Amino acid sequence: MHVHMVGNGGGGSGGWLRLKGWHRPLAGFMLRQLSLPATALEGDLEKLYAEHLLRLVQESSLHAVVLLAHERVHDPDGTPRDDLGSMFVPNNVVLNLAQRHPEFLAGVSIHPARLDALDELDRCITRGAVLMKCLPNCQNIDASDRRYIPFWTKMADAGLPLLAHTGGEHTVPVVNAKFADPRLLRTPLECGVTVIAAHCATRSGAFDIDYFDAWVEMLQEFPNLYGDNSAMVSLNRCAHLGDCLREEIEPRVLHGSDFPVPVLGHRLWLNHSLDRQSFRRIQKIDNALERDVCFKEAIGFSEEVFTRATELVRLGR
Ligand SMILES: [Zn+2]
Repeated sequence: MHVHMVGNGGGGSGGWLRLKGWHRPLAGFMLRQLSLPATALEGDLEKLYAEHLLRLVQESSLHAVVLLAHERVHDPDGTPRDDLGSMFVPNNVVLNLAQRHPEFLAGVSIHPARLDALDELDRCITRGAVLMKCLPNCQNIDASDRRYIPFWTKMADAGLPLLAHTGGEHTVPVVNAKFADPRLLRTPLECGVTVIAAHCATRSGAFDIDYFDAWVEMLQEFPNLYGDNSAMVSLNRCAHLGDCLREEIEPRVLHGSDFPVPVLGHRLWLNHSLDRQSFRRIQKIDNALERDVCFKEAIGFSEEVFTRATELVRLGR
């Protein structure tokens, strides 16, 4: 679950990447983690990135990853707001990659306020999308808006799950912080959509609200609600990783990566989830996808957490 496609439209996809302020050094840091040169930002980044990622998947213990498109910010009336976002990865980028490589499963991204949202949803489903990803707080989506009910209903009818970012965010600019609240996802849940709360609604920065308990409470009410543990082997988002192992919670957790966000297990060692040798051995693994898997296996996540996605996403229909 949850691997980001990144691109700059250099190959003519129509996508773009616009880095301002501290996001520029952050992007440089991520590229270095990927062993891609900083000049990749100016070249055909999509091609370089996809080739590199494909190799990482093939060399890891994962069979496939859900590769995510990234929608533009929109106003609630459907007007695109390119002045507010930092990145656009069109759906065709991931749909085309998924068509060519069985290692990639297409996670498309559609703002439900788009005037063509229902048509785009149909088109993506026909082309084999396995889920729909959005970042409500960064893309300005109030999932509880009644106008989006036909969109959620269509997703539910097609068996297409929603992977929604929950909790704070610091890699992509936040447009509306209150949309990070998982309780706004009640509407798609009530429409029958399988909803996966990315990062189990944990906070990203010290000043974010922590919605983890709110998400746990909702698990009892909604059997169609899950969470992914993406980006939780990190310095800033790992506070609840151990809680995700609790017996009432783990059956609702899916392994997620958040690649290319760095995988840093230092806090797992410091909070005694791992001994020093295991920490050092795993932190040295070059392949960030595999490093993430190994950290999660080492602290006790079961096999089911790594395979559960195959029962939930829209495969082979
Ligand atoms: Zn992410």
